[in-house]
Amino acid sequence: MPSIREAFARVETAALGCLAGLSPAVRRRAPNGLEFLSLCILFSFAVLLVSATPPEKHLSIYSTAANYSLPIVQRQGHDYVGLLELLDPLGTVSAKSDPPRWRIHYNNILGDFTVGKNHARIQGRDADLSAKFLIENGRGLVPLASLGSLLPRFLGGPATLHEESGRLFIGSIATHFTASVALDDPSQLIFHFTSPVNPSVATEPGHLRLTFSREPLTSPASPTLTFGSKTIPSATYSESNGTAQITVSGTVPLMASFSNDGRTITLSPAKSQTSATAVPAPSNPAPQEPAANQSASIPRRYFAIVDASHGGNDRGEALSNTLAEKDVTVAFARRLRQELENRGISTLVLRDSDANLSLDERAFFTNTTHAAVYVALHAASNGHGVRLYTALLPYTSEDDRGPFRSWTTAQQSSITLSQAVAASVATELRKQQIAVRTLTAPLRPLNNIVTAAIAVEVAPSASDLSQLTSPDYQQLITTAVANGIVAIRAQLGAAP
Ligand SMILES: [Zn+2]
Repeated sequence: MPSIREAFARVETAALGCLAGLSPAVRRRAPNGLEFLSLCILFSFAVLLVSATPPEKHLSIYSTAANYSLPIVQRQGHDYVGLLELLDPLGTVSAKSDPPRWRIHYNNILGDFTVGKNHARIQGRDADLSAKFLIENGRGLVPLASLGSLLPRFLGGPATLHEESGRLFIGSIATHFTASVALDDPSQLIFHFTSPVNPSVATEPGHLRLTFSREPLTSPASPTLTFGSKTIPSATYSESNGTAQITVSGTVPLMASFSNDGRTITLSPAKSQTSATAVPAPSNPAPQEPAANQSASIPRRYFAIVDASHGGNDRGEALSNTLAEKDVTVAFARRLRQELENRGISTLVLRDSDANLSLDERAFFTNTTHAAVYVALHAASNGHGVRLYTALLPYTSEDDRGPFRSWTTAQQSSITLSQAVAASVATELRKQQIAVRTLTAPLRPLNNIVTAAIAVEVAPSASDLSQLTSPDYQQLITTAVANGIVAIRAQLGAAP
């Protein structure tokens, strides 16, 4: 099997290290009927060149309550928006125009504005405006540039204004994305989004453009991303007039397919595409590759990812003078894969060698494979039996921690399912008379994984450490874990 291609561009933080050399090779998977609502949009480079007439200037507002847009008007050389219109979708609001005064109630907050003044009073405290307050037809107009400071006074939480591009984020609502070349097929580019997206797709010679007019998409660390792919060398993020765009450069016509409930967009060469469910994975990435051997290369999808924790320089716990946790976890992982495969569950061991793999890489890789369940294996010398962990997600405060935020709460949408997996595995372990504790912990990379995810920490059943390397004990544990996953298989398969 070919080794995993390098070319990972994790754009949310910094570029990730390469996974070259990790085996077994992993195939980029085709859409699977269980999880995919696949919508394929095929454009040819020759088809269209969208020439949009410049739209009126407007402000896009993203919030948990609603996403909406408002016109931006220019007065006296400044951009203005109506404050009542802006607050209206967010809460209970009323305004009274009594020129030159204009008062607005938002929930329990009173704002007091005066025409021609560049300061106002909100709840009796002064608030500076970047330009004079205006009233037009009873509408109170505030300068756009002041919204970043003005709105938190009404909303009691953060509001982030992208003034240049006319985008306003209320609270911590941003959608982040990553982009990476498919692990074994450098002609495919995969975008992962932290929330479902539904951009419009347009192509012109040499480019495919995704336009996000409703989604609170935010910029990666660097607006220009390069992928080291001949067919898709780079992509650029930009935003203007209330929309965000990702412009992907391609040397061949590209098609976009949506999956994972709109959280994944895969770009691939249009001409080598036969259907949404048969993505060819040619061994030769040349775009002109004939489709002759496609049937032999229909990718396989892994249902389960088993992660042997630690590895390489990270030895994990020193279980004894000679026994490192990283070696025990690999042994358990291989056995668990065998038990799962025996039950018809396709399984990938994420670390099947003594590789160094960062937690980010493990999570990112798992998220990329669209597996239904992720199981991290740990071993411990203290305690008895098995501890089962599910993620304890960070408290969601209104403090915006930027692009890392959604990465740390990626598990949010699957946490209930993860707990169900843990409960099912616990039941099976107890049937084998194994002591079990189920715990929640802020344990990485569980937090970062979008699918059902648990960590299994195995300790000896008595105080005899040699159990950890005993085939019988490993068999007992992995059989129970596999049974627990099989018992909940239908539920896992039905998950998005
Ligand atoms: Zn460990």
